[in-house]
Amino acid sequence: MLNKYSMYKTLGVSDQVIAYVEAAEKSILPHFSNIDDIAEYNQLKVLNALQQNKISDIHFNWNTGYGYDDMGRDATENVYKTVFGTEDAIVRPIIVSGTHALTLALTGTLRPNDKMLSITGRPYDTLEKVIGLSPSNALSLMDIGVSYEEIQLTDEGGFDLEGLKALIENAEIQYKMIYIQRSAGYSWRRGLTIREIKNVIALIRLYAPDTIVMVDNCYGEFLDYQEPTDVGADLMAGSLIKNPGGGLALSGGYVVGKAYLIEQVAARMTSPGIGKECGLTFGQTRTILQGLFMSPKVVSGALKGATLCSCVYEKAGYEINPSVDSVRSDIIQAVKFGSPDKVIAFCQGIQSASPVDAFVSPEPWDMPGYSSEVIMAAGAFVQGSSIELSADAPIREPYIAYFQGGLTYEHSKFGVIKSLDALYKKGLVQL
Ligand SMILES: *Cc1c(COP(=O)(O)O)cnc(C)c1O
Repeated sequence: MLNKYSMYKTLGVSDQVIAYVEAAEKSILPHFSNIDDIAEYNQLKVLNALQQNKISDIHFNWNTGYGYDDMGRDATENVYKTVFGTEDAIVRPIIVSGTHALTLALTGTLRPNDKMLSITGRPYDTLEKVIGLSPSNALSLMDIGVSYEEIQLTDEGGFDLEGLKALIENAEIQYKMIYIQRSAGYSWRRGLTIREIKNVIALIRLYAPDTIVMVDNCYGEFLDYQEPTDVGADLMAGSLIKNPGGGLALSGGYVVGKAYLIEQVAARMTSPGIGKECGLTFGQTRTILQGLFMSPKVVSGALKGATLCSCVYEKAGYEINPSVDSVRSDIIQAVKFGSPDKVIAFCQGIQSASPVDAFVSPEPWDMPGYSSEVIMAAGAFVQGSSIELSADAPIREPYIAYFQGGLTYEHSKFGVIKSLDALYKKGLVQL
């Protein structure tokens, strides 16, 4: 008989693993209706933005040379403005990554003697050299005289409101920027929810009304009905080969926020006096907009897959983060494996579930911008795209693997199945 089980067999998965994952899936089905509801809301939100900005065939064309008056580029940025509810937006394929978008936002707005405070602990690994927290020959924020401080999240993974209040209430010179990383990144915590971000911004406004609140929104887009900019963030950045590119954008990043800040960021991106007026889109506006259109549905599938991953590996006896029942604010699922052979098997299992390069086996390597070796499973149509099924793990104690993505729920589920199958076949897990 032809059914999904015959296909799983064709793909070489052990029967025990399929049964195990399907039992876990049954137990999380109640979570799916909430995820579907958010996806439906965001689908309509994006559609409304496309309609309001009168997107038309002409916006899929592009200019050459300086790129003055590129209608498609301007319309794309207007759509982002509408979706994120901000005064202005930069959306460019020439922004090479999320790190680049965040770097532009930081270096565009911070000046000598400004103080920056991270309230979500140490920022994402690739920002350490940008800020000056790890040595490099590049000009860092600290090199130009920006001072940096950080406070940790509480043991429960929320904002340390008391610690923050003490700092901003008593600051002789107020912080120029307070920095929030919404997603876990490579750290053992859950994403900060919109409700938490709203509360912390309300507190900041009491004592530091002029401080720029900036949010690293990587992996957070369309997880909720609102985005950080809807609850008071002044500046926000993310990557187009994560959530908002919907798997279709080939490259790029976005920065959205208050008009005066976007003007500064744009001047940094191109040059003072030019700002947003120049810069080619190389024919990418159609895929950027179509990807945005697909994104709410893609994100919902990834979120269901992450929930399944948490349930399966909790059942198998591993510590997971976030927990199965927690409110999710990013698409990442972390699993603590405690040994290098298990994280490596996990990532190799994910790789073998990929539509592209399934026949290769990833190994740990020294990836630029990261401080320890990293193993990455990424058999994606768009290289490095982590809205597609992917997993990565820094090779360091306590050996945590980070699972994310899947352009469809079915594929994300298959990733969970293949990762478990890899561990199972190596005798690294008992089912
Ligand atoms: C991925 C990520 C980044 C960096 O984005 P790249 O596109 O990999 O440079 C920054 N912050 C967080 C939280 C991320 O998940």
